[in-house]
Amino acid sequence: MTSLPNNILHLPEYHLLDSKEEEHDFHFQLEAPTPVICEECGVQGEFVRFGKKQSTYCDLPMYGKRVTLWMIRRRYICRACDQTFRPRLPEIVDGYRMTRRLHTHVEKALAQWINDIPRGQKEVWKDLVKAVSNWREEILTYFETEIPITNALTESIYQPSGKNKVLVDQKRTSTT
Ligand SMILES: [Zn+2]
Repeated sequence: MTSLPNNILHLPEYHLLDSKEEEHDFHFQLEAPTPVICEECGVQGEFVRFGKKQSTYCDLPMYGKRVTLWMIRRRYICRACDQTFRPRLPEIVDGYRMTRRLHTHVEKALAQWINDIPRGQKEVWKDLVKAVSNWREEILTYFETEIPITNALTESIYQPSGKNKVLVDQKRTSTT
């Protein structure tokens, strides 16, 4: 596929390179915009490309299918300050590995879910709401990991640090 309209995703700062539709998914390959200034020292035009990698980000579902953005991000080295930098991505909440619009949607949905608990049932749902509130950051940053996605249980047990995260989690849940 060659000539894809860039505005199909309404992410005008990115260059859309390719797309693929599967049974349950849409995949879009994007190239991050070229920076204007060095993000370390602010000098213009003194940096050169210094490697690239592809990272995935989740976006809002489209036509009932999951949307994954395959982002080509470059690293640059600046001749003025000798630092390397990876430019910030517009419209992306980096720590959450998702687009800003998806992040907004998820935050709203979570707040709505808590808000929708009928008044008489607040007590019944109290522990779950508390756990979700305590784990809000972890839930929303779930995909921010270099570990290939397996399932939550496997991931929680096998941590690269060697720590058994289940035990840590149990301790945290019971003390908060
Ligand atoms: Zn610089």
